[in-house]
Amino acid sequence: MNYWNPHLETLPKERLDQIELSYFRNMFSYAKQHSALYGEKLKGMEARDIQSLGDLKKIPLTEKEEMRKYQEMEPFPYGGLLGRGIAEVTTFRQTSGTTGKPIYVPETYESWQWRIEAWCHILYMAGFRPHHRVFLPFGYNVYVAFWEAHYASEKLGCEVIPGGALDTRGRVHKIMEIRANAMMNTPTYGLHIAEEARKMGVDPATLGIERMLCAGEPMPPATRKRLEELFHCHVFDHIGGTEACGWAGMCEAKDGLHIIEPFFLVEILDRETLQREVEEGETGIAVVTPLGRRSFPLIRFNTKDLVVKGQASCGCGRTSQKITEVVGRIDDLRKIRGVLFSPKTVEEVIRQQFPEVEEFEIVVERRGLMDVITLRAEVHPELSLEAIERTNARLNESLKIATNLSFHIVMEPPGSLPRYTLKAKRFKDLREG
Ligand SMILES: [Zn+2]
Repeated sequence: MNYWNPHLETLPKERLDQIELSYFRNMFSYAKQHSALYGEKLKGMEARDIQSLGDLKKIPLTEKEEMRKYQEMEPFPYGGLLGRGIAEVTTFRQTSGTTGKPIYVPETYESWQWRIEAWCHILYMAGFRPHHRVFLPFGYNVYVAFWEAHYASEKLGCEVIPGGALDTRGRVHKIMEIRANAMMNTPTYGLHIAEEARKMGVDPATLGIERMLCAGEPMPPATRKRLEELFHCHVFDHIGGTEACGWAGMCEAKDGLHIIEPFFLVEILDRETLQREVEEGETGIAVVTPLGRRSFPLIRFNTKDLVVKGQASCGCGRTSQKITEVVGRIDDLRKIRGVLFSPKTVEEVIRQQFPEVEEFEIVVERRGLMDVITLRAEVHPELSLEAIERTNARLNESLKIATNLSFHIVMEPPGSLPRYTLKAKRFKDLREG
């Protein structure tokens, strides 16, 4: 069987649109009645005002900042974001809080099951099957992503091994001991596991991992390929968030991500105006409405994720709308000397052309009136001095071509840059604050 839900995954796109519009109207009425945030936000509007997907524009986007404000209300700790009675909440999750006070996310048993079902689509699409023994190399704590992965793997019939409370070497040992054959991790941590395994004298390709699903960071194609080569496995990408849930995943064609329809209504809007739906091939901001989660209603949530809109057709036969690329967070885009810069471009260059670079960090500073970008690159320990100099010169050249900016390159000794176990912080803009 190719699909988790053969009926939904092959519905004609027009039919998916109709279903989503009808679900959206239901969610609109529900949210207006049950969540203080939307009681206020949707004042003066009715579900009947939304006759077509074009009418969505009449509804203001939901921003994280206003969610923080409504969260301060009663009942503690979810406040005006809650869409069910507080006694019905069965699971507490929260956002990481890297950009401010965390958002607390209530799930009832019903809403959690809805979320898991959507995640099953992501996993099944990435080829996860009952014979997979899935290793999750994290302590999940109060963060949602790996809990979703855990429960959805179980629902699919996989066997799950929670890998928290171990260091990276302990995890490598556990993978070998239990013969895990599938894994879910951030791209950064996948690379780190490979590096640690090699230090232990273990070739990561011999670990027996067949499938890897990545999350948490934009993954350039070159990083995905590098992971595939290191582990000799198939690597898939997906996108989601604590508030928006996991809303798109990569199928075995490995050519972009499918939006999980009709679980989510996803708009991809022009990033300047946040009004116009972009055309195929254009980059825009993903605005997501989860259509079945009543414990925490969200209408037109601004994810601030920049994605490239793709087609609504695919070699795999699924009919859902695709995105061809996850560009990154809009917050990570910077103007440097008047040029728009995305840290993902640097990662793409390094992973594609510089296998000798093990880790890197980008620092932007203002010196006098000039913005200076420094790339600190840590190279493989066995590299000779001449080879290091050649790498330095090639980095200079390649980064200039890829970004239109000159970099100050500093070669660092092995082990001098930090390693990250969840999301990497390889980009530092010191011009702010
Ligand atoms: Zn596909």
